[in-house]
Amino acid sequence: MPFIQKIEQQITADPNLDHEYQWFLGIEKFNKLAPRLILGEDSPALLGGRAFGSQTLSGNGALRMATEFLVRHLNYKTVYMSNPTWDNHRLVFRYGGFTDLKYYRYWDPATRGVDFTGMLEDLKKAPKNSVIVLHMCAHNPTGCDLTREQWTMVADVLEERNLFPFIDAAYQGFASGDLDKDAWPVRYLVDRGFELFIAQSFSKSMALYSERVGCLTVVLGEGHAQDAINMSSQLVLIARAMYICPPKHGALVVSTILSDPALREECDLCIMYLLRNYRKKCLKIMNDRIQDMRKALNESLVKLGTPGNWDHVLTQLGMFSFLGLTPRQVEYIKKKHHIHMLSNSRANMCGLNDKNVDRVAEAIYDTVVN
Ligand code: PMP
Repeated sequence: MPFIQKIEQQITADPNLDHEYQWFLGIEKFNKLAPRLILGEDSPALLGGRAFGSQTLSGNGALRMATEFLVRHLNYKTVYMSNPTWDNHRLVFRYGGFTDLKYYRYWDPATRGVDFTGMLEDLKKAPKNSVIVLHMCAHNPTGCDLTREQWTMVADVLEERNLFPFIDAAYQGFASGDLDKDAWPVRYLVDRGFELFIAQSFSKSMALYSERVGCLTVVLGEGHAQDAINMSSQLVLIARAMYICPPKHGALVVSTILSDPALREECDLCIMYLLRNYRKKCLKIMNDRIQDMRKALNESLVKLGTPGNWDHVLTQLGMFSFLGLTPRQVEYIKKKHHIHMLSNSRANMCGLNDKNVDRVAEAIYDTVVN
C-alpha cells in the first residue's frame, strides 16, 4: 500500500531508530491502539483495565500464544474449529498443546452457505469448558459469515455450556469494508460479559504479511483488572520461551497509523490523520475490486449457462470463494485448465482480473459439464 511505504520511509529516516530489544510483549503504543481497533475507541473493558493487548508474531503468533496460555494455565484440553477452517489452525492448536481437536459443522454443500442448524447442534454437544474458535468476519475458507441474529444464538449456547470464545480476527474490514461493522460480533460478546481471547492480524488489513504484526487481546470479566496484570506476566514467560520479543518495524508502522488524532496534532503530525483516512479508502478499493470480480465471475458463469446455482459466488464474503466443486472436479480444472485452488474448491477471488475472469468461468463451465 502506498501510504505504508511513505510511513516506512519516515520511520527509517529517523536517526534515533535503534535495534535494541523490545519489551517482551512488544510496543506499548501498539498494544494500546490495536485492541481499540477491534473493541472500539470507548470500550469499557479497555477503559476499565480488564482488557489488554500484547503484540504477537501476527495473527498466527497470537493464536499460538493464546493456545499455550489456555492449555498451560487454564487447563483447557478441547478446542472446536469450524469445519472447514483455515488449514493452519489444526497445526497451531496441536503444537500449542490442545490434545483434543474437534470440529463443529459450518459449511453446508447443499445451500453453499452456513449449516447453522448443524453448528448449533454441535456446539450444544460440546463438553463444558471447551474452547470454541470463531472467525470474526470473512470466514476462511468459506467466505460465509453468521448473521447478527445467529451470533446472538451462538452466544446463548456459549453461555449455557460455559464455552470459551476464541476469536480469530484476520480480516477486519474485508467483509463489509467497514472496520467497526466487521468487529460487531466481538463487541457484542464483550458487551454480554464474555471473557475471551482475540487473535488479530495486520497481514491483510495493512498488507504487512512478512512483517508479522498481530495482537493477542485478552478480555476479562468485570472486576478482574488485577488478573489482567497477572496474566500479562505469564504471557511474558510464553513469549520469552518462544522468541523473547516480537519484531519492531511493522508494529511501528501500524501504531503510527493508528495513533490518536489528538496526539498527532500535538506532535504536529496532522498528516498521519489524513493517512489514516486514506487507509480506510485503500481497504475500500481492495474490497470493491473483490466485489467486482465476484460479480464478473457470477455473470460469466450464468451467461455460459453453467449448470447449478452460482449465487454463492456473489454472496460469500472476503477474499475467498468456496466454489462448491468436488475434489475430482478440482483435479480436472487444475490438470486441464491450469487453474489452481485448494482441493475443497476454495478459490482466491483476488487472483481474478478483467483479463482472466471469463477464461476462469469457461474452465468452470467445462469442468462442471464434464
Ligand atoms: N487466521 C486466519 C483465518 C487466516 O486466514 C490467517 C492468514 N491466512 C491467519 C489467521 C494468520 O495470518 P497471519 O499470521 O499472517 O497474521
